[in-house]
Amino acid sequence: MEIIDSHTHWGPSLTMGTEVTTEELLRQAEQSGVNQIVIFPFPSTALADEGINERLLEEAHRIKSNPAAEQRGIISNGVKKFIPYYYIPETMKPIPDGKGFYGGKWHWMRGVQDCSSNYKALEDPKLEEFIQASEKIDLPIVFEEELAFTETFVKKMKNLKIIIPHLGMLGGNPIDFLNVFKARENVYFDTALASSEIVMKFIENIGHERILFGSDIPFGTMKWELEKVLSLPIGDDKKEWILGKNLRRLIGLT
Ligand SMILES: [Zn+2]
Repeated sequence: MEIIDSHTHWGPSLTMGTEVTTEELLRQAEQSGVNQIVIFPFPSTALADEGINERLLEEAHRIKSNPAAEQRGIISNGVKKFIPYYYIPETMKPIPDGKGFYGGKWHWMRGVQDCSSNYKALEDPKLEEFIQASEKIDLPIVFEEELAFTETFVKKMKNLKIIIPHLGMLGGNPIDFLNVFKARENVYFDTALASSEIVMKFIENIGHERILFGSDIPFGTMKWELEKVLSLPIGDDKKEWILGKNLRRLIGLT
């Protein structure tokens, strides 16, 4: 089974004063049997220096083209790929096309991170352009805001695909997110840090097709988050979709 972790943070975090290194991610992947890892920058770092997007992309290329880690014995089971996502800056610049990003990360745009949305961002004329450009690029965006903000954003989009992290946990009550977006086929959810009971509620209500496995390293560990999904009371075929196939389809990975 090809397993992809759809949510990890890579690089330094200015607010936390720590760094998630490539070696650490590869070590956790090796330990848990994860094959590919989605990486995006920490918000505080990206807000201070947009150049982190470029460095993250370079790191993904480096791991792919020069498997030094494999030679040093850090990895052995075929973890060769980082899947880089672009941190969308406060200028609402869309994911640059053709550079090698597979998705984007929208994080409390001009608001207070993990805490309160800035609803003025929804009135910015640039938002329309952002949505249009993003729909053209057709890559998913991990989208984190309060429920009401997310709802307004989703009403504005047509074909854009968004992934709500933690089943909506930081933006409100996951069950409210579930009820509001149940019928929205372009709204996906990741399992990072959510309880098995809530994950099951989502699967029972919207099926397994819109659920993605994610660890949210360094806030979760790959091993623990993976074991949580593996032990869900559902068939292996469904797990296979949650653990990799859904994301592969979303980002067009063959
Ligand atoms: Zn995260």
